[in-house]
Amino acid sequence: MADALLAVSGLKKHFPIKKGLFSRVVGQVKAVDGVSFEVRQGETLGLVGESGCGKTTTGRCILRLIEPTSGQVRFQGREVTQMGKAELRAMRREMQVVFQDPYSSLNPRLTVGSMLGEALAVHRLAKGAAARERVAELLTLVGLSPDHARRYPHEFSGGQRQRLGIARALAVSPKLIVLDEPVSALDVSIQAQIINLLQDLQSRLGLTYLFVAHDLSVVEHISDRVAVMYLGRIVELADRATLYRDPRHPYTQSLLSAVPIPDPERRKERIVLKGDVPSPARPPAGCRFHPRCFLAEKLGTLARCSAEDPELREVAPGHWVACHFA
Ligand code: SF4
Repeated sequence: MADALLAVSGLKKHFPIKKGLFSRVVGQVKAVDGVSFEVRQGETLGLVGESGCGKTTTGRCILRLIEPTSGQVRFQGREVTQMGKAELRAMRREMQVVFQDPYSSLNPRLTVGSMLGEALAVHRLAKGAAARERVAELLTLVGLSPDHARRYPHEFSGGQRQRLGIARALAVSPKLIVLDEPVSALDVSIQAQIINLLQDLQSRLGLTYLFVAHDLSVVEHISDRVAVMYLGRIVELADRATLYRDPRHPYTQSLLSAVPIPDPERRKERIVLKGDVPSPARPPAGCRFHPRCFLAEKLGTLARCSAEDPELREVAPGHWVACHFA
């Protein structure tokens, strides 16, 4: 197996809750609360969970778009959390991001050519004719035409704008791209095209992806491994085939039961969880999933589950689960 390009260890991001005239800190929103995983060279790791589970915050902490509270992020063996401004700028050439909403992440006042040219200029990669040539190459790479360089973002459809977002990330020839819900805002038919494009680019350019999504069906075809997050923690991590065939955590089982299967013979029963996701400002004691866990109820283990916080442990080679009874 290839080496880890990115290694995240014990990552936490707590946002203070402030109140009153003097902005007194009265609590913490534990958006990410002790997350560890690796992303190997050339693979796609899917990071999946419902809205508010901390997956997007995890991606942003890795890129230091927001500062983590604690923990380590090692990229190619270098500690990202300790980097000064110059080192961080150099690192951002190798670690890029594609955001969910392609329109708000593109400057409406710049033509596509200027936008991509700017990315090249910031990192002193090309200027003049060489930059124009590189812009044409990037547009072709993402399935657009070199003529599109003269147009503005509002002249493109949603799917085309996401192609532009990808072209901008590729401009600096990164090694790793954090894909932050890159297809969530798009129609289903366009989603498949963008995912195919990302797969094609990965094999052509040897890219590594961290693919953040709220839906297991979106990452199924592109991921090599998948990590499932719940309330700021990873609750299950396995290679794709294992996770979809043999999910062990009750939360993963409930998420998978909502994924549509085209084959009527294999239709599964939908597991509907009771209640809502608790607030990350007051995560439940013991196992964070226990107030919603159908397995604990079935096994009659709520006393233990509400008192003991399960570790993420390896239940089979490469298959990690945070549940006492997985
Ligand atoms: Fe459910 Fe208990 Fe497992 Fe948590 S530890 S997932 S509450 S069975």
